[in-house]
Amino acid sequence: MLEFDVAQSRLATAGSPPSIAEACPLAEARGRILAQTIFATSDLPPADNSAMDGYAIRYADYAAGKRLPVQQRCFAGEAPQPLQAGKAIRLFTGSLIPEGADTVVMQEDGNENDDGFEIQRPPVQGAHVRRRGEDVLKGNQLLAKGCLIGPGEIALLASQGYAEISVYSRLKIGILTTGDELLNPGQPRSDEQIYNSNGPMLTAMAEAMGATVVHCLHAVDTSESLREAFAILLADCDLVVTVGGVSVGEKDLVKPTIEELGGTLDLWRVCMKPGKPVALAQIRGKPVVCLPGNPVSAFVVFGLLVTPLLRTMQGRTQVIPDVQYGCLAIDRRLKENRDEFLRVRADYSSRGVTLSPYPQQGSGIISSLPWAGALARIPANMEVHDGDTVAFYDLRHWLR
Ligand code: AMP
Ligand code: MG
Repeated sequence: MLEFDVAQSRLATAGSPPSIAEACPLAEARGRILAQTIFATSDLPPADNSAMDGYAIRYADYAAGKRLPVQQRCFAGEAPQPLQAGKAIRLFTGSLIPEGADTVVMQEDGNENDDGFEIQRPPVQGAHVRRRGEDVLKGNQLLAKGCLIGPGEIALLASQGYAEISVYSRLKIGILTTGDELLNPGQPRSDEQIYNSNGPMLTAMAEAMGATVVHCLHAVDTSESLREAFAILLADCDLVVTVGGVSVGEKDLVKPTIEELGGTLDLWRVCMKPGKPVALAQIRGKPVVCLPGNPVSAFVVFGLLVTPLLRTMQGRTQVIPDVQYGCLAIDRRLKENRDEFLRVRADYSSRGVTLSPYPQQGSGIISSLPWAGALARIPANMEVHDGDTVAFYDLRHWLR
């Protein structure tokens, strides 16, 4: 049997990073991978400005009970006049600090009438001023090549005036589900049939990572049907993921079909539960990953073993997200001869993370999938008890 971590690192390097970059409007960049390292073109904020609605003063002009005439009302977006001695300029959040002013007094800390502004609480020199460059300095690195663009990255890029960025072309994925018993949701079903959940599930998983699912095809259990599907997938996609039909049953025809197509295939019995049979093939230079058919197994294997390969092929720098540690809350001892990946909920508190497993852990229990937020790893041949610390994979990091 192949160790889980060995399978993971072999898969992570089974494909190549993209070589083609394209320009992408910032508004469409969410989920794309940056193909250039980006540096700040200006200081942020670009000038000293007010953090509060209030009054700009010279600190030295403050005296208890003294009223400072209001020289100007300067809204955000307007240019302030230089502050005259003994006066105040009315400011709003984001208004520029006038030349000569060094302190902002919050409007709540005084009152204004026709004679000016009286400060009723002693000010702190330099207070409520957002300094030029306190956020970002011109020339600093903002984002590294290979990072995933999310809302935070978009905010930072927009603040620097980037309307367009260079991103890698989207990874094109083809999915192939297999099995005579499967039916698309929406069609009338007879007793011997089940609905195809892997097709929609894997499509969603790939798309959540920013890949494009070019085809999600289904083949019945004949070599001919499989060959037809492979021809389409290999022509249009960078990476093919098949699911089901890869064990040693009489209708498990994926392996012989790949070999017929001239592919080389390594069939691994990965030391993991759920999800033992996993295969990695190359057909005409394209990676093909074959997942076990049970939806829970396919979910776990795709999430933990295939997403690193996707990230590599997307051009990302961090292809294996962090593994975290938490404390198991279980009511019985656990021991397996393979690494077991429990569907758990991870509750973060100041005392650490508590991992509570879904009550049913069988590989046929699809209801555990929307419930779980993480996968906890029980090492092979080790007896674990309530309260033991184990590794876990937070799906918020692993499925993006
Ligand atoms: P297989 O590896 O093809 O023998 O599939 C293992 C189990 O997973 C069988 O019970 C299949 O019916 C089930 N299965 C395979 N593919 C799917 C799918 N796309 N959706 C739901 N169940 C599936
Ligand atoms: Mg099958």
